[in-house]
Amino acid sequence: MSTYRPINERIHDFKPVEAEPLAAELREDLRRCQDCGIPFCHALGCPLLNAVPEINAAVLGGRMRNALAILLATSPFPEFTARVCPALCEGSCVQGLNEVPVPCRQVEFAVIEHGFAEGLVRTRPPVRRSDLRVGVVGSGPAGLAAAWKLNQAGARVKVYERDAKPGGFMRYGIPDFKLAKGVLDRRVSLLEREGIAFECGVDAGSDVSARLLSKRHDALVLACGARRKRDLSVPGRLLSGIHFATDYLALQNRLNAGELDALPEEYSARGKRVLVIGGGDTGADCMGTAWRQGAVAVSQLEILPKPPETRAADNPWPQWPRILRTSSSHLEGGDRLFCVTATSFEPSADGGRVGHARCAEVRWEGEAGALRPVEVADSGFVLPAELVLLAMGFTGTEEGCLLESLAATVDKSGRLFRSENGRAARAGQGEGDGLASFPVYVCGDAALGPSLVVRAIEDGLRVAGKVIADFAATPAS
Ligand SMILES: Cc1cc2nc3c(=O)[nH]c(=O)nc-3n(C[C@H](O)[C@H](O)[C@H](O)COP(=O)(O)OP(=O)(O)OC[C@H]3O[C@@H](n4cnc5c(N)ncnc54)[C@H](O)[C@@H]3O)c2cc1C
Repeated sequence: MSTYRPINERIHDFKPVEAEPLAAELREDLRRCQDCGIPFCHALGCPLLNAVPEINAAVLGGRMRNALAILLATSPFPEFTARVCPALCEGSCVQGLNEVPVPCRQVEFAVIEHGFAEGLVRTRPPVRRSDLRVGVVGSGPAGLAAAWKLNQAGARVKVYERDAKPGGFMRYGIPDFKLAKGVLDRRVSLLEREGIAFECGVDAGSDVSARLLSKRHDALVLACGARRKRDLSVPGRLLSGIHFATDYLALQNRLNAGELDALPEEYSARGKRVLVIGGGDTGADCMGTAWRQGAVAVSQLEILPKPPETRAADNPWPQWPRILRTSSSHLEGGDRLFCVTATSFEPSADGGRVGHARCAEVRWEGEAGALRPVEVADSGFVLPAELVLLAMGFTGTEEGCLLESLAATVDKSGRLFRSENGRAARAGQGEGDGLASFPVYVCGDAALGPSLVVRAIEDGLRVAGKVIADFAATPAS
């Protein structure tokens, strides 16, 4: 179980919510891990195949250096997952069958932070450089993982990032109270010292053309995320004060980082009633951010039914439990409404901005797999809101010059098509001039659809492995 700082203290700052777990405090829990017959945590649970029982055994035996080595053997950036992973391993923990799962994510935290504190996490530049030159577009967890693995294999790697600093949604999405950005800076600095070059503030495809990229690099890895935001097309949507959640969260992170002098007033929750539309992680992050900005009330709408408190019969262990999740932000206050949708937005009395949302209950009808929401008659109600945040997920990869020039194709969910070998499926010739034969790979949310940091890291590593295998014949310099 996570230990959080007291609510009345933490909602006044953006510092990490979670108290730092110490290995010594976790040992009692680790004894339960060692009683396990057949562990599922590492193979079924963890996408990175972290050897969780072995790590736990080493921590229990006080062998922290050993635990770190086992962890780093499968996970390049445990400090990220130790903070934001929903802990898929814990979902399949044998102890979770009838007890609280072993706190594997907290153990990961204790191990990696011990490693940093003791100076055990050092730069490890490749022993030998090859002539392979790879460009990586996007510096979220997928791009960073791909770049790391390629660099370790000796490739000359350059990462192109549109934002001012590397990190993707880890920097300009996930709030600082979940992931402090110093953690990201510490890793990026290591990667730079290991030889990876970062070009930030550069939109690949427009600031640097696809053709130039194909001249600079032997291969390109697209790790550009799934960032096309889902909108809500209802009357009043264009009123001032209605924003996409990720724009709102990014501004607060930029303010915290000193990249902004002040929050634009229409993005501030101070003194306002806030309505968050979307019941997922992003919505919860908006709630926590709104309280810290000084909101007077916060409500979160979810169109889906409320998940059960415990596993349903069709969701047995060791599957990931599809149960109600209550984040640290939910514990800070606010209402959560399920099976509810906003049907229109109406202006405030002075007409200048949004004043309230009209909402209605829905019920889900139809065959399993093809359920659709139907508005419940006479269920309408009004929620006052001076700030509305749309956190309804993403509909795929953003279109843009780069994908157009490369003639990269998308599937009906908006993900970039890729074949078994990790390469982007391309429609015809692209811009010609050799671009069609320029090897382009895809990883992370761009290929998977909106997912998780841990899955993006795993996918980046896997696709980098494909690039390395394809170019294995490149002679060393
Ligand atoms: C608010 C929020 C909270 C989340 N919380 C969690 C959480 O708690 N735990 C968890 O596991 N996951 C969480 N996620 C999901 C997680 O952040 C993503 O799954 C993950 O970041 C995807 O990684 P990625 O590298 O594929 O893409 P991204 O992180 O989206 O990075 C893509 C990068 O590509 C760059 N880019 C795109 N196009 C170009 C271009 N043409 N030129 C240059 N750069 C370009 C973008 O600027 C961006 O930096 C959250 C997501 C959001 C939005």
